[in-house]
This record gives sequence, C-alpha cells and structure tokens, in this order.
Amino acid sequence: MEKQMTFEEKIEHYRTIIDDVSYPTVNKWKEEHPNKKVVGMFPVYTPYELPHAAGMLPVGVFGAGGKIEIDHADSRIQSFVCSIARSTLELGLTERLKNFDALYFTSICDVARNLSGIWQTNFPQQLVEYIHFPQNMNNSSAPKHYRAELQKLVSNLEQLSGKKITNEDLLNSIKTFNRNRELCLQLYHIKSTTPHLLSTFEAYIVLRLGTLLPVEEHSQLLEGIIPQIHQRKRTARDFVRVMIEGSFCEQPPLELMQVIEDAGCYIVDDDLLLHSRWFNEAVPLNGDPLLSLAESYINRSRYSSVRHYGNKSRKEQFLEKIKSGKVDGVLFCAPKFCEPALLDYVVLKDELEKHNISYMTFEYEEKMGVFESIRMQVETFVESVLFFS
Ligand code: SF4
Repeated sequence: MEKQMTFEEKIEHYRTIIDDVSYPTVNKWKEEHPNKKVVGMFPVYTPYELPHAAGMLPVGVFGAGGKIEIDHADSRIQSFVCSIARSTLELGLTERLKNFDALYFTSICDVARNLSGIWQTNFPQQLVEYIHFPQNMNNSSAPKHYRAELQKLVSNLEQLSGKKITNEDLLNSIKTFNRNRELCLQLYHIKSTTPHLLSTFEAYIVLRLGTLLPVEEHSQLLEGIIPQIHQRKRTARDFVRVMIEGSFCEQPPLELMQVIEDAGCYIVDDDLLLHSRWFNEAVPLNGDPLLSLAESYINRSRYSSVRHYGNKSRKEQFLEKIKSGKVDGVLFCAPKFCEPALLDYVVLKDELEKHNISYMTFEYEEKMGVFESIRMQVETFVESVLFFS
C-alpha cells in the first residue's frame, strides 16, 4: 500500500502519526516485541546507537506539541519553564509513556537536569539516565571521559535487557545510524539546493516520523521518498532564502513553519531535529565503537547552543553555515524560556549586525494557536530583504 501512495499522500499520512501523542507506532512495536525495551530520548542529541545495539527501540520524546492540557505537571515542575519540559512530564503523568522502559536526558541545560531528577522521583519503575557531555572539548582526556560515560550507559542497558552488548552489535548500530543520517542529510541537501521541491514543513514531518520508527524502517522509507521528491513538478519561486536558528530542542508548531514558508521564505537550513544530522561526517567504524562515538561527538558534531565548542567558535560556524547555504536572512525562532537559545541569540545577532545580514526574532510555545502577527512580520521581513538588501 505504501508503494502506491504519492509523496503528498504520504506526508498527510505521516502527519497523523506524528500528531498522535499516544505513540501508536511505539505501542504497536511493543505489542509485537513484548520482551524488548523502549528507550525515550529527550533532545537535543542522544546516542541512539546504544539502545539499538541492545535490541531496544530508541524513541524521540519531544513533548506534546500543544496537543494536551497541562493538568498535572504544574504541581511538580515550575510553570515558567519551556513547554517541552512541562508537556513531557504531563505525558508521563497521564501514562502516555507507560510503554517506555527507560528515558535518556542530557546535560543541555538546568531544565533538562531538573526534569531528569523529577522523572526519577515520579517514575521509579523506569530507568532514568542523565548523560554528562564533555565540556572542555580541547582537553585530551575528553574522549576518554565521554567514552566512560557511554560505557556506563551500555552496562545499564545490559542490566535492563539481560543481554551482553558486543562490539559487533555497536558497530552494526553505528553503521545503521550512519546510513540514516546520510539519508536525512540528502533531504537537507534537496531543501538547500532545490527548496521548491521540498518544503521544511514536509521535510520535518518525514524526519519527525523517524524519531518514532525503528531506524531500518525509516531509512527504507527515505530511500523510497527521495526519488519521489526529485520527480516532483514544481516551479521555483522568487522567495528569500532564510535559515532558522534556535529551535534545536523544543520544536515549533508545524503551522509556524507553514506560515513562514507561505509568507515568501524558503527555509534552506535550520536546527530542527538536530540529532538526525548531528555529525558532520559518518562515525568511523573502528575497533573501539564507544571511543569512535565519543570522538565523533567531540570532533565531528555540528554546532549547537547546547554543545560546548572546541577550536572553532559557534559564531564562526554560524557564519559559515549562512555563507555555504547562500542565506539571505536569519529567523531567530526560539521557544519561550529557553535559556541556551536566548543566551546565544545575543552573540549571534551581533555577528549578523557586524556583517550586515538581515534577521528577525520571535518566540514560540507549544500551545501557540494564532500566527497572524508572525505572518505579517515575516512578510515585512521578506519585503525588506528583497527590496533593501
Ligand atoms: S527548550 Fe531550552 S530550556 Fe527547555 S529543555 Fe530544551 S534546551 Fe532546555
């Protein structure tokens, strides 16, 4: 049935899946694999390879995207934190994550740290991991330190599954995710070189689906979809090329992306669902897969507000991305109360001003339902780029 669907029909179908906060694909997988485990992965980047190597299903946990009311979470977490933290907790408290056996959080910010602690207290039946990423990337001990952190996760997964994870399992998982990241990058290449063939709204739906499916299934789906995209008959329009910056953790409402694109923008690059193309190069397949993952995190990761940088500063990498993407303007589009995004905004916007690059700024939250004012602001921005740059 999948083979007969057009690209547009697939997008419509996939959207119904990603919009369903009861995780239907995960529940189905669990029914089919009752003895296997599901591991929830909180953004921005988590090593999906590890649960995969243990025969488990890693699943992206990105909050509820405004689909549920926050009735219980506010009694356990502050109301002045980002929506993703509150709605993820609400998903747990309303038993929508009951099929999850473990959850991974990482050292991206105080909110994620706090949430991992709240999770441990409220869901003692689930394994909760808080991954400490290296902070000093130039220190020669950093790969060894992070490798030890990964080894600890592997040992805990072995305990959870009762199965030894071999180097071969890990290498196979790295290879499988390398292939998936390569296909995700192909989508981004289409978006950048022929943006009229693939909107960010569509690319996002396809990538978000990948956070819910076994990676092999998602790669197969991408292999079917990419040729379909190339065959689309669509005319290029006189749109401005913009880049979205700041949406790396809590994801903006899909309607917001539609509004930006409808207002005359091609979003040729962004930091949405960043884990799907986290590494600049394939993770090398060598004799020590954990060290290989650790070294890739330190030396071959994309820049992000939640990753400490090494020799090249974030603002340098930000400017390089603008240049290589032939970007006309930047949209700073960050979730309310997201400190990492707001702190970087100050530094990055200064760089744009220095280089005379246009930008505009707005915030979003999951429950946002009215986009008219943003539409008008983006339309004005587009006109200013087209006529005054
Ligand atoms: S949205 Fe920002 S503040 Fe909230 S958990 Fe993510 S990185 Fe932290």
